[in-house]
Amino acid sequence: MKLRTVLFIFYLIQIGFTLTMKYLSYEGDVSPELKERILKFFTEEDLRKGIEYSRSGFFASILSDLIDFIVAGIFVFTSVSARLEEKISEKTGGRFYITVLLFFFGFSAIQFLLAIPFQYYFGFVLEHRFGFSKMTFVEWLVYTGKSLGLGIVGGALGVLCVAFLLKKFENAWKFLVPIASLVFGLLFSVLFPILITPLFYDYKPIAEGSLKKKINTLCETANIRVENVYVIDESRYSGHTNAYFTGWGENRKIFLYDTLIQNHTEEEIVSVLGHEIGHWTHNHQIKDIALNTLEIFLLCFLLGYLFLRFKKEGSVRLKEFYSPSTLPFLFLLLSLFGSLTRPAWSAISRFQETQADEEALNLTGGDKKSFIDTEVKLAKDNRSRLNPNRAEVIYYHSHPTTLERIEFAQRWKK
Ligand SMILES: [Zn+2]
Repeated sequence: MKLRTVLFIFYLIQIGFTLTMKYLSYEGDVSPELKERILKFFTEEDLRKGIEYSRSGFFASILSDLIDFIVAGIFVFTSVSARLEEKISEKTGGRFYITVLLFFFGFSAIQFLLAIPFQYYFGFVLEHRFGFSKMTFVEWLVYTGKSLGLGIVGGALGVLCVAFLLKKFENAWKFLVPIASLVFGLLFSVLFPILITPLFYDYKPIAEGSLKKKINTLCETANIRVENVYVIDESRYSGHTNAYFTGWGENRKIFLYDTLIQNHTEEEIVSVLGHEIGHWTHNHQIKDIALNTLEIFLLCFLLGYLFLRFKKEGSVRLKEFYSPSTLPFLFLLLSLFGSLTRPAWSAISRFQETQADEEALNLTGGDKKSFIDTEVKLAKDNRSRLNPNRAEVIYYHSHPTTLERIEFAQRWKK
């Protein structure tokens, strides 16, 4: 069988699989046993609200996925990509890096124009319908414009950097690309709160008072400096609550949404912080970056090998490996491999989240009540789906379900 046919079959399987998962996700898990366990902590109303929110925009999201697949398919299985590069190359007089940039902009512009109605529907219409978003249309436009601008600048730099390595180092690129991505990953993690967060939020160190005292005690137990806890003003955008951390080593910072502080007791906030510190003390971010680098390293070898095989067969129109028109082909391969490795990444992430939950309970001296109350409140405030489909959880979810986390806390022992 021709490689092109094999690729096309995998492409179709991926479309079918994605749509099947969408359907399963819509259905959720309707077993009466699960419902009984959920109703120990939540009301029928909570359950219904979560289902309603997660089901909203079902057809739009299917349409959006299909459009993405079709665009990718057209670029890979027809000569559109190669012809676009030739057209651009004519205009730029064959100058390589400008051609790469313009190709990238053209390819992104097509995807962007097709995605914008969906962004508006999901990010503005639905978020308002469910009472989450507080942005006016203009504010939403500014917010989306900023995110898009950052994406384009970041993407363009990444593509230029990879194009440079591929063109300059015919063999060594397989080692240099993973190293470059490692360096960028570490840099990005440190620079994100300094360069990117201020573009969207105002943030300041957590205020003096009883909460800070409690956080102090928590941080002493965990051996962490308190200066690194910040509050960001999510409330200007939405009612969603969250906490996260960025950076590594001495540069690590914890961010708490102000919405979290408004809606939770001090003990509950301490529990959330304990979870974030758990990620910190277990070095999850460094481990993820290391694993990621290893994956990129393996992918580089695989992509290099597959490119040569496809090129030899000649059934997919490919120029050089470093040609911009090869990009959609590589993206498709990456998305196929991504689908295969996704469940492993999700499982690792869920394992780490449980470790962090355990740390939260350890650090707060086993304050199960605050932990469980937090989970219940977070799920209610964010209209979480309480009965997600099992296959969806295994394949996509980065966190255990709310119920699993609550039951884990109940079982926790020193
Ligand atoms: Zn976490």
